Amino acid sequence: MGRAFVYVILGGGVAAGYAALEFTRKGVSPGELCIISEEPVAPYERPALSKGFLLPESPARLPSFHTCVGANEERLTPKWYKEHGIELVLGTRVKSVDVRRKKLLTATGETISYKILLIATGARALKLEEFGVDGLEAENVCYLRDLADANGLVNVMQSCSSGNAVVIGGGYIGMECAASLAINKINVTLVFPEVHCMARLFTPKIANYYEEYYQAKGVKFVKGTVLTSFEFDSSGKVMAVNLRDGSQLPADLVVVGIGIRPNTSLFEGQLTLEKGGIKVNGKMQTSNDSVYAVGDVAAFPVKLFGETRRLEHVDSARKSAKHAVAAIMEPKKSGEFDYLPFFYSRVFGLSWQFYGDNVGEAVHFGDYLSGTFGAYWISKGHLVGSFLEGGTKEEYEAIAKATSLKPPVEDLAELGQQGLNFALTISKKPQPALPIDVSHSTSGLVLEKPMYAWYAAAGVVLAASIAGFAYWYGRRRRRW
Ligand code: FAD
Repeated sequence: MGRAFVYVILGGGVAAGYAALEFTRKGVSPGELCIISEEPVAPYERPALSKGFLLPESPARLPSFHTCVGANEERLTPKWYKEHGIELVLGTRVKSVDVRRKKLLTATGETISYKILLIATGARALKLEEFGVDGLEAENVCYLRDLADANGLVNVMQSCSSGNAVVIGGGYIGMECAASLAINKINVTLVFPEVHCMARLFTPKIANYYEEYYQAKGVKFVKGTVLTSFEFDSSGKVMAVNLRDGSQLPADLVVVGIGIRPNTSLFEGQLTLEKGGIKVNGKMQTSNDSVYAVGDVAAFPVKLFGETRRLEHVDSARKSAKHAVAAIMEPKKSGEFDYLPFFYSRVFGLSWQFYGDNVGEAVHFGDYLSGTFGAYWISKGHLVGSFLEGGTKEEYEAIAKATSLKPPVEDLAELGQQGLNFALTISKKPQPALPIDVSHSTSGLVLEKPMYAWYAAAGVVLAASIAGFAYWYGRRRRRW
């Protein structure tokens, strides 16, 4: 026995939520669309888990951050799906897929068939065990990929107030969790093997700024080494971590953020894979005509760079989902996905955005003391990437637009001197209509506003918080 749908979205994360919204906009009929998700809740804005969710005061909780909150879109609560006749099959893992027969088998034994499948299975957090370190069972070793992880982290965090946390990994998750833990008054040591934080994106100069900022907030850095083993107490809890350099750090809590692996296993041997993900064309269509893939799991052609990339960022999940649904519902009208890679982060009172690609030579600009600074990346004589911390909305839009135009750059010293003015000038020049949508709605003022605003709001009723935020928002340069 089983059910049949015209459209099935496999996975219930960010991309699934945005795809569902687009399906309704393109006229999907009640009963035609189903979302199957291993998670027990409707799709939500995953980035909130390392930001608003971990705050000590008025933390973000569902339903406040269901997709597509903050993007000037509707917030898709379970009620919304019901009203639109979209079937949510939650808490249900799909254990096999037969793309030839167009059928899925769930862990509960149900067969669900489809005409069109949209794969939005995202990725899973890499585990220490995969690097030969035991400790998965310890209750105070935390990962952060989904709501269950976030709840677990909050529980451990609350049980070790003023204690010691060791954060393993100096990437996004490590940096955001370290900031959140410090805000929760936990003593944080960040351990990673690279020479500086955010090594895949930051230059040493940019990284130095953030590391000094974190250190001023009490966060310690142990660089150039990795965790090799744990020390456990008699109850099986981790009490210290051993590092390869021979040192030992006391730990009441360990957060591991060592990267992710796309969830492709259901499709190995059935669909073409590339760059660790499921290969799609410019319509987000896989090697099987009836199957599309979006979000973290999809490896798609990035026109701007002339190559296939797999991105692990929320903006790409949102936009690829929207594009795939347009391609499914209006195949004749929809063109190739033309995407400018964009990612951002917010920690403490800081906020940065990055557009494009960080290849070639980096040219720094701006004033580190005032907190507004950035870098351009120049490759083969053209601007290909831009980073900006502390910018205004207009400045972020300018670097996005300038990067999408890939203007020629001859004199790097001159570019450094011009700094933001370079992007502002380029972006104001009359241009033919941009093929790329460079508008970026970073989700959720309520969820992701810089964290010091939450300090200010501590202990104040919600109305006062909103008023306070509005005041702050009005006084400061706009960041969204
Ligand atoms: P996901 O949102 O991961 O959703 C995948 C879904 O598929 C999950 O619900 C999963 O349970 C389900 N699933 C997988 N396999 C199966 C199966 N077999 N059966 C049923 N269901 C299945 N990006 C940024 O750009 N900026 C940020 O600040 C930022 N912060 C982040 C903070 C955290 C804590 C995390 C974890 C990620 C963050 N990201 C950020 C990345 C961003 O959230 C991801 O790029 C985005 O969630 C990808 O969306 P997706 O829909 O492809 O995958």
